[in-house]
Amino acid sequence: MEYKAQRGTIDILPKDENLWNYVQAQCFSIAKSFGYGYVETPIFEDSKIFERTVGEDTDIVEKEMYTFTDKGGDNISLRPENTAGVCRAFIENGLHNETLPARLFYYGPMFRYERPQSGRYRQFHQFGIECIGDSSFDNDFEVIKLAWNIIKRFKIPNTKLNINSLGNKEDRELYSSKLKEYFSKYLNDLPKVDKLRFDRAPLRLLDSKEEITIKISQDAPKTLDYISNESKIHHENVIHNLEELSKSDEDFKFRINDKLVRGLDYYNKTVFEYVSDSSGPQGVLLGGGRYDPLIKILGGPDTPAVGFAMGIERIVNELKKVDIKSKSDLDIVIVVLDDNFRINAERLSDLLRNNQLKTIIAPRRSMKGQLRFANNMNSKISIILGQDEINNDLLTIKFLNSKKDQIQIKNNDVGKIKSLIISEV
Ligand code: AMP
Repeated sequence: MEYKAQRGTIDILPKDENLWNYVQAQCFSIAKSFGYGYVETPIFEDSKIFERTVGEDTDIVEKEMYTFTDKGGDNISLRPENTAGVCRAFIENGLHNETLPARLFYYGPMFRYERPQSGRYRQFHQFGIECIGDSSFDNDFEVIKLAWNIIKRFKIPNTKLNINSLGNKEDRELYSSKLKEYFSKYLNDLPKVDKLRFDRAPLRLLDSKEEITIKISQDAPKTLDYISNESKIHHENVIHNLEELSKSDEDFKFRINDKLVRGLDYYNKTVFEYVSDSSGPQGVLLGGGRYDPLIKILGGPDTPAVGFAMGIERIVNELKKVDIKSKSDLDIVIVVLDDNFRINAERLSDLLRNNQLKTIIAPRRSMKGQLRFANNMNSKISIILGQDEINNDLLTIKFLNSKKDQIQIKNNDVGKIKSLIISEV
């Protein structure tokens, strides 16, 4: 075929509709149970918003943004992430004048020109949480726990939290210089991409996917040895809470990972990610951390914040591996034995649909063909309309999932139809 979806993009089809809706609904309901409210920002923003916050030297801004000049000459980017947009909205709408912290969540598509592979797309969806306006470690723990509730709800096996602290801005600078000092001894061994990182963003050397750099990193200095006393106390308090959580919930596992720095510039203190046992990018389900400097960078008042972003495609892929199948939620296919009864079938379908029953009238085929259609559609029951049914004001119900015998009920008895469908689920 001449036209194909762009590389790294996918179509979501009706067979996966239930799964996608399920994931979204669970995320929303858990966020709301923690007192968070929905926020939606535009899909495109002034490119500077991302350059200033995500960081000009990051892969995202340097190589991955879909940037263009619009017809009015403005420099626009499709959002590669949503934290910067939410913070822009927080400032612009004066949310800093309301009771803080603001507890916000979002859901929607993000765009990054990345090399597509399993679990990595160019258009993907993120669900995210932002808790803005409180510097306490309590909020770090809250968002980590909220994320855990989501992962638990989806029953994704063998997930683990990785956590680290980057300290404050000065700690980061000190640590970066220590890291540079260490890596300078191995400069000639570093691959080209990491030599660039060495010059421009040394912390990101720890994120490198290059084998040789990973090996060298093993003995690199650790962030936790260079963070200030205040950051250390903050970190220890978060860890204390995580220990308590693992005591009360044996499934919750965490590890202090001193190589975790995360790819974006705006993080300070706590950084974390939840990983599953899937390999490669697919394994990183969500990532987040504290980003105290960001709102000020965007021109707002100095306002600390913490949050995370979760990849919806990655959750959907994990659920497809376990047993949650995208079952059809079609309730009824009406099988019409004589074309003269099509008008009766129309009336019946109106009645059923008005009663929230998902109903399709089978296409004009033989009875066998129509029943095969009902089976292929995974409908819960079929209702047969033939001469006998019309003459006697009856409906014949055929059960498609269980092999129960067909029965006849009074025409228009929606209550009975509903109870029969429930017993089929
Ligand atoms: P980040 O915004 O890079 O911190 O990523 C947060 C989460 O978004 C990751 O843990 C993934 O679950 C998801 N994610 C990031 N980039 C992609 C991508 N290109 N394709 C699919 N999911 C992604």
